[in-house]
Order: sequence, then structure tokens, then C-alpha cells
Amino acid sequence: MRRQPKRVNFTAKVGKEGRNKSLTLEEILNIFRDCGALLEGHFLLSSGLHSSQYLQCALVLQYPAHAEPFCALLAAPFQGEGIQVVVAPALGGIIVAHEVARALGARALFTERVEGRMTLRRGFQISPGERTLVVEDVLTTGGSTREVMATVEEQAGGVVGVGCLVDRSGGIHLGVKQHALLHLNILNYSPQACPLCQEGKPLMKPGSRQVRPEGG
Ligand SMILES: [Zn+2]
Repeated sequence: MRRQPKRVNFTAKVGKEGRNKSLTLEEILNIFRDCGALLEGHFLLSSGLHSSQYLQCALVLQYPAHAEPFCALLAAPFQGEGIQVVVAPALGGIIVAHEVARALGARALFTERVEGRMTLRRGFQISPGERTLVVEDVLTTGGSTREVMATVEEQAGGVVGVGCLVDRSGGIHLGVKQHALLHLNILNYSPQACPLCQEGKPLMKPGSRQVRPEGG
């Protein structure tokens, strides 16, 4: 178990009048686990590295009943910032942008890669000076978030903040107001130096049918 134990007493109000809801950090983590979005075990990642935890936000976002309150919690610190546009990189960020924008009464856009370059397509436009929030499902290196920020700035939009459901970056700061629903410290290992391999734990490949531990 390598998640950071801090901030367990975190609570926040969600939703509109009459739909207030408080969730503790532990309750949020449990929902991620129940959805299979946060698995613990011994995983082979697409990078070839091994990890004791595997995160797949799409598995929690498949439930609108979770996506809406979680994104409302993510949006909460940006209420009052006059956010007009929420932008996320496709595909993982699209639902996050949509639900955060719902909470803030803003538009939801997404960027796509065209020949490797992050681009606003489909007629999406940001007018000069529009107050923009950039969101992601998971912040890992901050690379794609920075690219979305640059795309917004090319349109002369003002990036007011950055939000993600899960920050697993270990503390990257992107120079604007920043908020994450969860902070996780997920360690990766090279196969040669993996302590789980040394313990002889069976290796699972996320996304395959064997990914759910038996009985789990
Ligand atoms: Zn291993």
C-alpha cells in the first residue's frame, strides 16, 4: 500500500442545492477500488515497467453517478474563478472536462493529437481572454497538460487553473492554481529490480481478463 495517508479527513460539498454530499478521501478511494479503477497487486504496464498498483480512471468514469460528484469536487476550488471553458486532452480527459464544465456552468472542449501535435479540432474555439481550466483524468508527468495549456494560449485564452482526478506526479506544479481529487504515489519498477517479482507474486496485465484477482 503506497498511497499517501495524508488528507484522510478531507470532506467537500458536492452538487447543486438539495444534492449536497460529503465524501471522505477514504470513501473516494473505496469507490475507485470497487470499480476496479485502482487495483493492487503486481502489474505489467504498457511501458514494460512493473507496479504494485494500477489506475484506470475510465472504470470509475463509466458510472455517471460517480463521474458527476467526483468532478464537482474537483471543480469546487475553481467556483468563483469565472471559468468559461474547460479543456482536456482526448480521450481520457473528455468525461472529466464535461462533468467539471457542468459543475462550473462552462463549456467543455477537448484537444486531439494531429500528427503528434495537440490541436483543437471540430470547430472548437476559445475566444481571446476566455478564462480556461485545463483538466485531466491522471496527471503523471504533466506533459499532456502542458501541451493543452500551450494550445489554449495559442488561442489567446487565459489558463486560470489545472485540475485532475488523480495526481500521481509526485508534486509537479504547472504554474497556475492546481487541484486534484486524489494524490497517489504509485511506484514503478524495472522488471530486474522489482520487489514483487522477487516475492514471486504472479504478474498481471491490466486490461486483460485475468486482471481481477480471484475472489476480488
Ligand atoms: Zn515485477
